[in-house]
Amino acid sequence: MTCLLINGSIALDAGSLSQVLTVQQQVGVHSILLSHSHMDHTNSLPFFIENVYGKSERGAIDIHASEATIYAIRKYLFNNATWPDFTRLPNHLLPAVRFHEFQSEQPLVIEDVTFTPIPVDHLVPTHGFLIEQDGAAILWSSDTGPTQRLWEIANRTPNLKALCIDTSFDNSLQEVADISLHLTPRTLEVELAKLQRRVPILLHHLKPPCVERIVREVRNLRNPDIDFLEQGREYTF
Ligand SMILES: [Zn+2]
Ligand SMILES: [Zn+2]
Repeated sequence: MTCLLINGSIALDAGSLSQVLTVQQQVGVHSILLSHSHMDHTNSLPFFIENVYGKSERGAIDIHASEATIYAIRKYLFNNATWPDFTRLPNHLLPAVRFHEFQSEQPLVIEDVTFTPIPVDHLVPTHGFLIEQDGAAILWSSDTGPTQRLWEIANRTPNLKALCIDTSFDNSLQEVADISLHLTPRTLEVELAKLQRRVPILLHHLKPPCVERIVREVRNLRNPDIDFLEQGREYTF
């Protein structure tokens, strides 16, 4: 369940905020960027909000997402049936949560980190992000099938330090991957041919039943730049 913590205070997706971080660490998170509305990227939002409710001195939690993602979160999650509408609690003037709509390729700056949402190709409107700070950049793709713009951005970002991309299924589930717009090691190889430079490639979003086969098939690609994003590990770029 996708969830990355940036500089201790900004979450990239919210798949496991409340499961992995202590309550004290959760209180330190004040901004969340969402790639898309799927549950494996948003499911910890209700419990995270409950855990930090009233504890943050900074006020509301800022959730940045596309119009489509905000619509889905409001309609299906914070809808007063599944969970309370925290944009109106404790009251609408001082809410616990504020939504901010971002636009494709319009950079937004949160605490000196610049995030540029890059549209990728998935079942629902989805964005990866170009993430930049202090002259270093990483590209993080979120869920995607074969895509185009992400590679164009990668090829024109000279200070790119790493690229994180989905490899959800092993090759035996190619049809499932194609239908659900995810990558397998086979389609990952096709995608990587669009990259005109060498940069560390970090794979993530491996579906648990497929992990062993994905690892084997990725090793067979014999690409020394590919590695796997490790759960719980801290990375510095
Ligand atoms: Zn998804
Ligand atoms: Zn996903």
